[in-house]
Amino acid sequence: MEKMSVGVIGATGMVGQNYLRLLKDHPWFEVTYVAASPRSAGKTYAEAVAGRWVMDEDIPTGVAGLIVGDASDVATAKAECEMVFSAVDMDKQAVRELEEAYAENDIPVISNNSAHRWTADVPMFIPEINSHHTDIIPFQRQNHGWNKGLIAVKPNCSLQSYLPAVYPLMAAGYPVEAIVVTTLQGVSGAGYPGPASIDMIDNIVPFIGGEEEKTEQEPRKILGSITDGKFVNDDSIAIAAHCNRVPVIDGHTACVSLKFKAEKPSLDEIIKVWRAFEAEPQKLNLPFAPKPCIIYREERDRPQPRRDRDAGKAMAISVGRLRECPVFDIRFVALSHNTVRGAAGGAILSAELLKAKGYL
Ligand code: NAP
Repeated sequence: MEKMSVGVIGATGMVGQNYLRLLKDHPWFEVTYVAASPRSAGKTYAEAVAGRWVMDEDIPTGVAGLIVGDASDVATAKAECEMVFSAVDMDKQAVRELEEAYAENDIPVISNNSAHRWTADVPMFIPEINSHHTDIIPFQRQNHGWNKGLIAVKPNCSLQSYLPAVYPLMAAGYPVEAIVVTTLQGVSGAGYPGPASIDMIDNIVPFIGGEEEKTEQEPRKILGSITDGKFVNDDSIAIAAHCNRVPVIDGHTACVSLKFKAEKPSLDEIIKVWRAFEAEPQKLNLPFAPKPCIIYREERDRPQPRRDRDAGKAMAISVGRLRECPVFDIRFVALSHNTVRGAAGGAILSAELLKAKGYL
């Protein structure tokens, strides 16, 4: 199969670097274009990230010599690639306009930015939960008069640790009434260079701007349905979040207490549901779909970020410590890799889903 040429805009940042690392040798996509701010434009990619390439492996050889474009130059992107992954960090209104300009020019956009997450006709994918939200794309194209263009987004990285573990229980017939979740989030979630080291060493920061709101609100759209070309949010679950920045480089951990609406499954049944969970990405055999999607760890002290974040090529959700809760029904700990599952890898999986369903 001929590979689809893709661009990464915001390619010099933390998420952008992860895209380049993860797309190296991708069976369907090939990076042919990179772009960032005017500060980086005109340099080779290697020059643009000199002193701030923070991945453990070297810059992929096919990318190091590419000339970095200006992300606002849509015409050049159009000449160089067929779709883009967007990882720019800019003012929200500027991101909205930029991503729409790409879509209008027949370039599909898969974005990590929060700017379009609540746009009425933009799907927000966790592909194992809402792959059917691809059904909004024909309406989106019709609303804008777009032909090949589209915009799809990823939710906030904090959700990816706990929602993929909660959803299989709902899908197995155990509706959820309430969740209290405390997140322990790695510093890479704040981009590079991230929080000052003096704030993070020997410390925990119990505040991440906007994160608790996103953690509580975004599941409503992700778990929602589509009626007459519009999303109908699922408001049935009450969620309270405490989000903390902790001195971990990669990996977001979530400590969850959960109350079911009706019947409460046994702990054994819950573990069985998690271990058997398969969704459309697994059934379609998408290259980035982890198999299994959820790894349940029996050890009493797992999951741990350093030991579990890379499970399933950093796309799996590791869960453990399932036990009864004296206040709610159950509690457990869940963990995912925030810059892979929670950012670049999750967006690549979304792009694979859209391609497999004929939208790219
Ligand atoms: P980052 O490391 O600060 O990188 C920001 C990128 O945006 C750089 O490539 C930068 O280019 C580019 N940029 C900044 N101003 C620009 C402008 N005016 N025009 C064009 N490009 C511009 O940020 P990040 O952590 O990679 O995050 C990128 C986006 O993903 C953010 O919206 C963030 O909220 C979201 N996100 C991040 C994570 C995570 O785990 N880190 C997870 C989910 C979502 P220069 O290098 O040229 O300045």
